[in-house]
Amino acid sequence: MRTHGQDDLHGLNACGALYNPAMASPPPFRRPVIKLGTSTLTAGGDHLSLARLAALVEQVAALHGTGMQPIVVSSGAIAVGRQQLGFPTDKDVSGKQIMAAVGQSRLMHLYDQNFGFYGIICAQVLLTREDLAERQRYLNARNTLLGLCERRVVPIINENDVVAADEIKVGDNDRLSALVANLVDADILLLVTDIPGLYTADPALNTDAVLVPEVASITPEVEAWAGGSRTGLGTGGMATKLAAARLATASGAEVRIVDGRERDVIARALRGEAMGTRFLPRTDRVEGRKRWILSGLRHAGRLIVDAGAAHALLSRGASLLPAGIVAVEGSFQRGDSVEVVGPGGEKIAAGIADYPADDVRAVAGRQSSEIETVLGYSYGGAVIHRDNLVSLLSEGERAHAAH
Ligand code: GLU
Repeated sequence: MRTHGQDDLHGLNACGALYNPAMASPPPFRRPVIKLGTSTLTAGGDHLSLARLAALVEQVAALHGTGMQPIVVSSGAIAVGRQQLGFPTDKDVSGKQIMAAVGQSRLMHLYDQNFGFYGIICAQVLLTREDLAERQRYLNARNTLLGLCERRVVPIINENDVVAADEIKVGDNDRLSALVANLVDADILLLVTDIPGLYTADPALNTDAVLVPEVASITPEVEAWAGGSRTGLGTGGMATKLAAARLATASGAEVRIVDGRERDVIARALRGEAMGTRFLPRTDRVEGRKRWILSGLRHAGRLIVDAGAAHALLSRGASLLPAGIVAVEGSFQRGDSVEVVGPGGEKIAAGIADYPADDVRAVAGRQSSEIETVLGYSYGGAVIHRDNLVSLLSEGERAHAAH
């Protein structure tokens, strides 16, 4: 057993229960995304806590040992870089980018050492918003991450702060971890932070605040509970955690906010122990991911459809035929993602176009049977096949719009 010195929070034997061969049922989760915030890694101080990092890695290693495919989203680069550089005072973006450049390599070195102790290889993955918004890069990132998991490597993800200026930033690692959860079809996103969970008010300011054990739906009331509370060194606060929970639950993952100061917290939460705040998934994973891939991407064009087509799409899940298209915007290729806009200007769906923009213009308003005559070729009678079409409306909105 490894010992790490004096950190009182270090889980003494995080592996115990999970390594127990007599464990009756397999672990309930297959691919958890575990987000470790800056204040968790620094144990609330301004220096990285080596003992804390070791304790967290020990827990992730234990999950890995059960056959799970854990993926870590780790903050801390800026804090570690700041520490390495002797706490420079600059607060501007370029100063932070410099700190991140210094800190990220040190951080990875420490992860590498700590995982190495368990014979586990880890990999650095730095992402920006662009990497998740652009189709080809999204798919590359997804393939790489899934490939790493299959090879039993633990990906350690952070935002690529060095190149991510404001306009291309995801912004905070809560959100990044939700995007990653969607990217890899995670079944649970664990937001490990330095508070016990979501309270009905800021517990630092209000003694009546109570911990909320479970949230089925993130209503305005729930959002009001989060207020604008922030944690110390990191970027996020409860509001960014809720935004992340909203995203990840919409893609079919359960989300848990848990307190990284608690012993063995990762393993316990994943075993289903009631702790922290649990957000229930709102959809099944495949449908959620499909919808999100299409809705979150930059669309190359827009197809404006008439009321009949909108109705067919929404009420019957029909393919989009050329007859219902009244206008085509943008220049897209076959295979690009496009938005479908109803007669009132509302975005109703997104999908993959089977024809390039100019050819859709040529066949818009015509019967499917005319496609071959007009274009001299045909990829089938639909401009977007129903299998590649996803509604962007909620079920309620869909029912409303279909009438
Ligand atoms: N990417 C930042 C870092 O590594 C953290 C951002 C966040 O805490 O949300 O320091």
